[in-house]
Amino acid sequence: FRVPDISNEPMRTYAPGSPERQALQAAYTQMEQELPFEVPCIVNGKRIKTGKTAKQPIPFDHAKHLCTYHEADQATVQNAIEGALAAKAEWEAMPWNDRAAIFLKAADLVSGKYRYKLLAATMLGQGKNAWQAEIDAAAELSDFFRFGVKYVEELYAQQPPKNSSGSWNRVEYRPLEGFVLAVSPFNFTAIGGNLPGAPALVGNVVVWKPSPMATYSNYLIYQILEEAGLPAGVLQFVPGNPPEVVGQAIDSPHFAALHFTGSTAVFKKLWKDIAGNLDKYKGYPRIVGETGGKNFHLVHESADIKNAVHQAVRGAFEYQGQKCSALSRLYVSSSVWSSGFKDQLLQEISKIKVGPPSDFTAFMGPVIGKPAFDKITGYIQKAKEAGGEILIGGTGDDSKGYFVQPTVILSKDPKSVTFVEEIFGPVLSVYVYDDAKYDETLELIDTTSAYGLTGAIFANDRKALLKATNRLRHAAGNVYYNEKCTGAVVGQQPFGGARASGTNDKAGSISIFYRFVSARSIKENF
Ligand code: GLU
Repeated sequence: FRVPDISNEPMRTYAPGSPERQALQAAYTQMEQELPFEVPCIVNGKRIKTGKTAKQPIPFDHAKHLCTYHEADQATVQNAIEGALAAKAEWEAMPWNDRAAIFLKAADLVSGKYRYKLLAATMLGQGKNAWQAEIDAAAELSDFFRFGVKYVEELYAQQPPKNSSGSWNRVEYRPLEGFVLAVSPFNFTAIGGNLPGAPALVGNVVVWKPSPMATYSNYLIYQILEEAGLPAGVLQFVPGNPPEVVGQAIDSPHFAALHFTGSTAVFKKLWKDIAGNLDKYKGYPRIVGETGGKNFHLVHESADIKNAVHQAVRGAFEYQGQKCSALSRLYVSSSVWSSGFKDQLLQEISKIKVGPPSDFTAFMGPVIGKPAFDKITGYIQKAKEAGGEILIGGTGDDSKGYFVQPTVILSKDPKSVTFVEEIFGPVLSVYVYDDAKYDETLELIDTTSAYGLTGAIFANDRKALLKATNRLRHAAGNVYYNEKCTGAVVGQQPFGGARASGTNDKAGSISIFYRFVSARSIKENF
């Protein structure tokens, strides 16, 4: 059998008065009326209420919370690990087409029956507006599942090209020995599906700790996979205190891999902890992580100004800059800056409306929580102290929700703190460079931050584009020409970066699946 052809899930536009807008509004209102929900841990398909609970607050209305979830205690994590290992034999032995069918069915449930519910959960719990939720929880999530099936089919077809006469060489792509630990972030519901989903698709069993700030949407993903036929025990849903749950899982002798998206600091710590446990494990665990970014746009003197402005605004401020890929440092040629770029940039930003996701006219929503709000406003303060000029924004209001205005900081010091450290919020640092110093600017971009996730180059001069591409070879794992540095599409732009940004195993591509299998070569003589 071959799996059917697939394509990217078409995005809905939610135009005023459209049936899709009405349907989404109805789902949102219903969820708003029914909240708060109660979310259990799920081990071997059984709902476990540990009684130790925590809340997922609503970021634009923090007096309310979307759900109360039961935190996995030690016994629950232990049962999750043991149950996963017990479910392993049957799941591994399941014919590939049957495993694939579960994920294809889940993709259809995401893009069909549960679309608006997933969007509503992503809007209410993670503070995305309708379009950002659509890109994520409808399109990218179903794309991860569908393209994943296609990639795994391709992976399994990778066989040695040669047999000597009378023999047959073949390669079996075994799931890893032990369990995979998936630790997913708040900022993409889709990543909540992909981190446990990709290893499970190739036959692994997975212990999954979702982000405390995305518990409810991630719980829906679990339910969708269950409805699609995922056997009990293959995926163990264990929300809870992150260091406790994760620490216990990596202390297990059966720990075989980490699939992580989150901060660089946490990823480094886990890597070190795993290294310290090596003698406990049967093998060398696979460590796959996508972490932070300090992503750039470079605007050359030959750039189309209108486009470069528009893309900068989208790259920096969509979803309040809370994408690993978000634009946070902008290098603009001085002639471009003074011939309209600055004015157009400020004008476009001044039109941005910040509001709750129920307001379809709001381009931006809240940041995820109090620590994020404090960190972002703290960086704005630091930038001011370092002599940065706030061109627009610079203020926040956390009285009802965690709102930060889109902020642009112009700085004469291109190595000051907001050009170096990840802020993960709607703060754009701008450095205006002398047109004659293009080469020095490339050097500056390359050496200013430790990250290497995404970048974009705006130029009509092809030589300038190529020069930047070559000089910035390791500065970004995803590069865009004349387009913003966010919004990688599954199946089109494999996503991930190197340096401090992660292991660059490329989500949304075949590469990621190689990390969760351990190949065995079999030679047979006839
Ligand atoms: N893949 C997303 C993008 O290209 C970013 C994912 C993330 O924030 O981790 O915008």
